[in-house]
Amino acid sequence: MTSPETSFDVVVIGAGAAGFMAAIQAARRGRRVLLLEKNPRPGLKILVSGGTRCNLTNDLDADGMAPEFGRAASFLLPSLRAFDSRETVRFFGTAGVETKCEPEGKIFPKSNRATDVLEALLRELRTSGAGMALGRPALAVERLGPEDFRIDTPAGPIGARRVIVTTGGLSYPKLGTTGDGYAIARAFGHRIRPTTPALVALVVDVPWVRALSGVTLPRARVAVVSGKRVLAERTRGFLFTHFGVSGPAPMDVSAEVARFEADSALEGPKAPRLRLDFAPDVTEAALDDALRAAASREGSRPVPAVLPESLPERLRHALLDVAQVPIDRRAAELSREERRRLVAAVKATDLPVAGTRGYAHAEVTAGGVDLREIDPVTLESRFVHGLFFAGEVLDAHGPIGGFNFQAAFATGAAAGRIV
Ligand SMILES: Cc1cc2nc3c(=O)[nH]c(=O)nc-3n(C[C@H](O)[C@H](O)[C@H](O)COP(=O)(O)OP(=O)(O)OC[C@H]3O[C@@H](n4cnc5c(N)ncnc54)[C@H](O)[C@@H]3O)c2cc1C
Repeated sequence: MTSPETSFDVVVIGAGAAGFMAAIQAARRGRRVLLLEKNPRPGLKILVSGGTRCNLTNDLDADGMAPEFGRAASFLLPSLRAFDSRETVRFFGTAGVETKCEPEGKIFPKSNRATDVLEALLRELRTSGAGMALGRPALAVERLGPEDFRIDTPAGPIGARRVIVTTGGLSYPKLGTTGDGYAIARAFGHRIRPTTPALVALVVDVPWVRALSGVTLPRARVAVVSGKRVLAERTRGFLFTHFGVSGPAPMDVSAEVARFEADSALEGPKAPRLRLDFAPDVTEAALDDALRAAASREGSRPVPAVLPESLPERLRHALLDVAQVPIDRRAAELSREERRRLVAAVKATDLPVAGTRGYAHAEVTAGGVDLREIDPVTLESRFVHGLFFAGEVLDAHGPIGGFNFQAAFATGAAAGRIV
């Protein structure tokens, strides 16, 4: 049984970006709101985000941002339009967090402190009048009748007229996100689209790749290829690591690799490979021309010295190795065949991929609550009146760059403004 002290207009389950925003918006509209969080501390993912700087949104407007979410674009568009990145900047500005825009439109707090973002949300929550219960996991949600939900917690049941599920996905489970919202959704008959880690680094068991650990490129093109098909492609920052490859470009395409991993299909003729272009701003023909010009004009220079300036020195040497060109070869001595192999190594190195680093290291989860069963304007379940889903628990994820927080804020706000 729930008493008036344990009954609320709205219970929001999960104090992350989406949950805070939903609770604040609902309480500002006069609802009695309780935000439930299973951890003793709220907003842990906000604190670790963006290398503890929290890339809280992206400068793109709603129409520019939505396509970045791929299949989820049309679903997210209404909430992104109703609460776009300018609205996020305004929300935090009013809450005392000044922001700045960095390359690729990434918006961070001026202070570079994720703690400022979380503290602002806590302040806004307090001012809104919403309550918060920490260390209080929702174990199950049951519908007792119209406008009558019971949320079971270890400290007893809580009643609510409306429930907003903002439990996140499965990535970084040590921060509390263990897929609880999927079980809640399933119990109400919702389908969960298969989940995989996304925005996660990739494991490559190739010695020369691992030997380059620490080498970075501001831009490389990374494609996931299966057979002749290019499944995903991205040109952005790139980093070699002791386990393989990381950085925005590999992470943005990682969900494609994760799908093969989930199907145990990382071997065989259709197994995914990574195709890397280390000089995406130079065409193959231009690179070939440049090498030939170097051979005639500066023929005594070693070949690594005449490769594109954008390539770090250690990578140049590795690429000569890959192309089987002796390291002491001079530009004028490069045979046509060696030049062809070298251009191919720079522009289209193919690597086998052994998998992803898994949920433990994934920034987000791909898959989740099936969007066809959720109203894109209100975020309400199409089956269960009064039940809402927002944030990463939904089958929507975007690339690196502030998109995922923006989706969480926007969907959280949409649900919070309607309940
Ligand atoms: C290392 C890292 C860095 C990131 N950096 C960025 C970045 O810079 N920019 C960006 O846009 N995105 C970033 N992301 C992604 C972003 O953090 C998430 O997409 C976003 O936090 C999702 O918000 P959410 O509110 O839906 O879920 P979450 O933030 O995951 O919050 C869910 C909350 O629900 C709680 N919870 C779960 N189950 C229960 C339950 N049963 N009862 C009560 N509470 C429960 C969890 O403990 C958690 O606090 C990063 C992610 C990681 C892991």
